[in-house]
Amino acid sequence: MISKTDYILWRECPKNAWLKINRPTIYYAEALSAFEQSIIETGNEVEAVARRLFPTGVLVEGRDEKSREQTAALLSDKVPTIFQPVFAQNGFLAAIDILKRNELTGEYAIYEIKASNQIKEKLHLYDLAFQYNLLRMAGLPIAEANLLHLNPDYIRQGELEITKLFKIENVTEAIKDLSETVLIEMESAKSYLGQETEPTGPCSCIYKGRSSHCTTFSYSNPQVPAYSVHDIARIGVSKAKLMELIDGSIYDLANVPEEFKLSEIQANQVQTYISKRPIIKADKIAEEFRGLIYPLYFLDYETFPCAIPRFDGFSPYQQIPFQYSLHVVEKPGEEPQHFEFLHEGSDDPSGAFAAALKRDIGKIGSVIVWNKKFECGRNEELALRQPASKDFLHDLNSRVYDLMDIFSKQYYVHHDFQGSTSIKYVLPVLVPELSYKKLAIREGGTASQKWNEMTIGKVSGAEAKKVATDLKTYCALDTYAMYAIWHALLKLL
Ligand code: SF4
Repeated sequence: MISKTDYILWRECPKNAWLKINRPTIYYAEALSAFEQSIIETGNEVEAVARRLFPTGVLVEGRDEKSREQTAALLSDKVPTIFQPVFAQNGFLAAIDILKRNELTGEYAIYEIKASNQIKEKLHLYDLAFQYNLLRMAGLPIAEANLLHLNPDYIRQGELEITKLFKIENVTEAIKDLSETVLIEMESAKSYLGQETEPTGPCSCIYKGRSSHCTTFSYSNPQVPAYSVHDIARIGVSKAKLMELIDGSIYDLANVPEEFKLSEIQANQVQTYISKRPIIKADKIAEEFRGLIYPLYFLDYETFPCAIPRFDGFSPYQQIPFQYSLHVVEKPGEEPQHFEFLHEGSDDPSGAFAAALKRDIGKIGSVIVWNKKFECGRNEELALRQPASKDFLHDLNSRVYDLMDIFSKQYYVHHDFQGSTSIKYVLPVLVPELSYKKLAIREGGTASQKWNEMTIGKVSGAEAKKVATDLKTYCALDTYAMYAIWHALLKLL
């Protein structure tokens, strides 16, 4: 049986889909990341809320033989709305998010729920066309095909208004136009994925940058080292350059010819890798730091992107800032003092967050962050929800200095940064005694997920207390790391 998910994966990459079905131990070798898990959980949550648009719907559980029998029974009873009915026909399988019967004509409408703010045509229409074809194979008269997705313009005020939260787009004509093409593709997918011997031939991602690679890349390309020419900064958009290297069997950065044309940023990355000598532009770093005004406020936010707006003033996927850590150096040569805020309740943190910031950050002094677009963006949004703090938040934004600039402007380049400007790569080089490795929470995605679990009551008691402690430890390291990196740089000047 080729499921809708298999077909979509096959469209993205036939080889990867084949491995998923025929070599699951390789395909599933890596555990899902916190980010991937949150995508699944968010999808389930959005689907559950969207079903409230169809209050009489009957849910079919599972995907097995019993579910198919239940589906057949509900269809024969002419049940007006069915959630997740399961169909299997001609070697294809799918569960339909919502199937609605028109009582007058006896025809059906399909609704595919997407937990996104807009339609992605190349993905969502093909997904729906698969279902359209399958239902027609099963003999169901289909009059309508719809995509039901979140409305990015909806801003919650008071009770959640489900009819405004979602947009329903009737894409019947587009699906009809696409259905023949998709039918041919479905048959191709079935025969490709059904072949017993592993498909041979090159893995096309060998010509793409690292961010395009799937989890089976190293299995299909054992000749490529873990850190390779695919990791050269922005090489994915310099397609001709990458192709030239790969066609010359150059995978290791050490083998990139000296005369090979690269941008300055790329060349610096390769050069430091080969020479193992960092590039440090002390005069430029000093110039940047001369603009800093004491007290220095090292600040970092943790946020949760909530698909279904939980509080007033939020739209779908708008980030909820729920925590910050702050290290303050009052005067040159002084040790930093630590301040923090973590909202542990289930209500909106916005008011308390803004008030705590006002309490902890004085009117004078530079606010040092890592990747200022993020913190400044959250401050802009917070100012809209908390007008009384607007002037303070705008002033705070005007005082922000982005410490990441030292690394993105390449005033400091080290081969162990591996072309990244993430603090997770910079810290071990500049301050090796500090590490995230032993922490229970080591990155922002997990922090976000844990805070959500704690505040929706998924964990409670001692477990919730532990989550709060872990969150504080993690965020505190983020700002202490910034302070320590700044301090280490200062010692070089
Ligand atoms: S790395 Fe790319 S081409 Fe190779 S299997 Fe994965 S998705 Fe397909």
